Amino acid sequence: MSALQSISGKNNAPGSESYDVVVVGAGFAGMYMLHKLRGLGLSVRVYEQGGDVGGTWYWNRYPGARCDVESMQYSYSFSDELQQQWNWSERYAPQPEILRYANHVADRFGLRSDIQLNTRVDRAAFDESENSWSVATSDGRAVSAKYVVLATGCLSNARTPDIKGLSGFKGQVYHTGHWPHEQIDFTGRRVGVIGTGSSGIQLVPVIAEQASHLTVFQRTANFSIPARNAALTEAEREAFRAKYPEIRRFAREEARNGIYTEMPDRGALDDGDDERRAKYEQRWSRGGLTFMSVYNNLALDKAANDTAANFVREKIAEIVKDPQTAKLLQPNNHPIGSKRICVDTDYFAAFNRPNVTLVDIRSNPIEEITANAVRTGGKDYQVDALVLATGFDAMTGSVAKIDISGRNGQTLNQKWAAGPKTYLGLMSAGFPNLFIITGPGSPSVLSNMIVSIEQHVDWITDCIGYMRRRGFEAMEANTVAEDHWVAHVNEVAHTTLYPQANSWYMGANIPGKPQIFMPYIGGVGVYRQICNEVAAKGYEGFAMTAAETQKMAASS
Ligand code: FAD
Ligand code: NAP
Repeated sequence: MSALQSISGKNNAPGSESYDVVVVGAGFAGMYMLHKLRGLGLSVRVYEQGGDVGGTWYWNRYPGARCDVESMQYSYSFSDELQQQWNWSERYAPQPEILRYANHVADRFGLRSDIQLNTRVDRAAFDESENSWSVATSDGRAVSAKYVVLATGCLSNARTPDIKGLSGFKGQVYHTGHWPHEQIDFTGRRVGVIGTGSSGIQLVPVIAEQASHLTVFQRTANFSIPARNAALTEAEREAFRAKYPEIRRFAREEARNGIYTEMPDRGALDDGDDERRAKYEQRWSRGGLTFMSVYNNLALDKAANDTAANFVREKIAEIVKDPQTAKLLQPNNHPIGSKRICVDTDYFAAFNRPNVTLVDIRSNPIEEITANAVRTGGKDYQVDALVLATGFDAMTGSVAKIDISGRNGQTLNQKWAAGPKTYLGLMSAGFPNLFIITGPGSPSVLSNMIVSIEQHVDWITDCIGYMRRRGFEAMEANTVAEDHWVAHVNEVAHTTLYPQANSWYMGANIPGKPQIFMPYIGGVGVYRQICNEVAAKGYEGFAMTAAETQKMAASS
């Protein structure tokens, strides 16, 4: 029985649904993948479990949601007409606008006809005799495809923590990563927010303006830099557009994180106190993620890092009037930047409002959630609604939810039980013709994600084109190349301060998840060069099999 039959329980006779490529997910990665594969003349089916395209921006509709990479850069570069014509309204566009952009792209490039919405991919099995994948979907269908591309997203598996009593709470419970489509009005309500990562930090100031009282339950204080968000003028947009060729080139080839900014040539300790402070002040006034690129050693040297961390801690103390609250808001258990740095609008100032209370749940963990309160430190904090800004099972969570079996029936979950193993973050040995976009082992979440998405999609498209031109049926990462890559990713991570934090980069936010630094921290420019060299050497480290070789091997 073929794997397809075994998945569906049906006999998929010739004529049943079959595609060259199945793509899972219709966020920015899945949409661009579809566009590019069509360019090769391939038949493609995209499955998306959500009700529309947009991925992250379809699901994360919480108040205050917006990008933290400037919109002129957090946007596709593959179409010059698109980047010249789309008008971003603000420096950091709000979620509804980014979702409109995703929809515009779907319409503009006629993508919808090959995207099946409201359909989850549940299983995928590799059929070794056919060199193809059998894919089972939530609508009870099974299709076959030569290739499968996982465009499932690194931050798409929202995580609800296991807190005692949560299911018995009588008010409304919202998760930021699964926000309802209708407008939620918190006016006059007592709201509790659990979680103070990027999502919590964005929504707290907005909900604070509506709620009668807002209680913020903080386990870990986070570093956050003001966004300095503002409307973009036409002149600013035009200036950017005129420089797009250089901005996009720099982001792809030179930047470590896919963002166009100055490259620092000095370490933080190379400057005296006054000069250093002036530079931090300048970046603080400018706002945004590039605060961390003022010096070239903030991620490497703890003493250098401390200078930036102390600067931000001082800023928090200046903004927050109550000294005890300010102290609680000052991060003290990880180097700045080792957890994803947040970008906010008036987050710290929100704690000066009389209707906002900060509760330290590190010293006094939540004991239980009762019908109408959060209990911690023996005290009940009454709330009518709870917002869980508790994050995601990042990088591997959405992949793990799909039952994927490769050669010899080995599942990807078995193979990754001790942590994800990939070659270049693109493929995992034993799973031929299965590509991952921005997978673990690639720069991915450490970068402007659209830069990394475009790079992976372009590489995968070139690779599939290469295979077809040369008559290769199957491609697979080889184990030695994969082991070397995993070791390299790990080695580079441990030259930095990143592993010192209990972050989702390390899998530390999920009880029981193996703690391994998942993304590749070598930088997007370096990584792109490595991927290009691998391709130029005939996909070094990958094994490609021609149909004839396969037949000969089978008959010998
Ligand atoms: P996603 O957008 O996550 O899309 C994946 C899609 O796959 C989802 O729609 C999901 O429903 C679908 N899917 C998953 N599993 C299945 C399945 N089994 N079957 C069918 N469909 C499936 N990055 C930045 O660079 N800059 C930012 O400013 C930024 N802001 C962010 C803000 C928030 C609130 C969050 C959560 C993330 C942010 N990110 C940001 C990261 C963001 O995830 C990426 O920038 C980008 O949107 C990822 O696109 P994607 O297509 O790879 O994944
Ligand atoms: P996150 O960074 O993982 O933050 C989750 C928060 O919930 C943390 O404060 C965490 O505390 C807390 N938490 C988790 N489980 C808890 C529990 N059981 N009890 C109490 N507190 C708990 O998730 P996120 O804020 O959704 O952000 C995830 C990523 O998405 C970001 O890092 C970023 O890459 C992206 N994002 C970007 C933006 C943007 O600005 N554009 C906005 C949102 C998200 P601990 O730290 O102690 O674990």
